[in-house]
Amino acid sequence: MAAMEALLFDIDGTLIRTGGAGIRAFAMAAEQVHGLPGGTAHMVFHGRTDTSLVREFLRHHGLPETPGDMERFLDAYLALLGQLLAEHAGEACPSVWSFIEACRALERPPLLGLLTGNVRRGAELKLRAHGLWDVFETGGYGDDHEDRDRVAAAALERVIERLGHPVRPHDVVVVGDTPKDIQCARAIGARVLAVATGAFGVEELRTFQPDWVVDDLGRIPPGILRNP
Ligand SMILES: [Mg+2]
Repeated sequence: MAAMEALLFDIDGTLIRTGGAGIRAFAMAAEQVHGLPGGTAHMVFHGRTDTSLVREFLRHHGLPETPGDMERFLDAYLALLGQLLAEHAGEACPSVWSFIEACRALERPPLLGLLTGNVRRGAELKLRAHGLWDVFETGGYGDDHEDRDRVAAAALERVIERLGHPVRPHDVVVVGDTPKDIQCARAIGARVLAVATGAFGVEELRTFQPDWVVDDLGRIPPGILRNP
């Protein structure tokens, strides 16, 4: 039996569904900051880091990509995201709360953290809207790195810091809803629970060979994740 030191959760499509608030806030920021309505229409958002999305947008339109330009866009995005979430926060994904409670009830509860492409402030806005922010003790975010695989590495480092002892990557389980979640877990040697509550179905996720795949977190008792 493997230990289970930490569970690292993706946000969109895994913990919550905002009904596309993030994507709309991005589109509105493109218009507000750069006068480009529809300027993000060509972009594919799921599984991506916010920072890589901003860069893709700026590059696509031939705009400057300095850290200041990135920040200006993200500031506008976050303000708009806050407004959209205040109007409509969306919902927690099915069984999220019962899964978290089941994790907490384990004999040796794992550290609960985040592994997300959202920038930290965006993650906080989205999760606070559902009372979920305080559940997570640490995490890796889209402002740690543009490359999701390196966000995973940052999350693992913080888990180790937080626990205060060495952690085998195999004893960490990433929970996510996209092939990119599976890929970034593999990049750090973690195991993966894929959940089909986002944009991808069970069969589609299965082709990326996660350790487990379910259509709803309620279908898997977290104790099972200890088994290799
Ligand atoms: Mg997701």
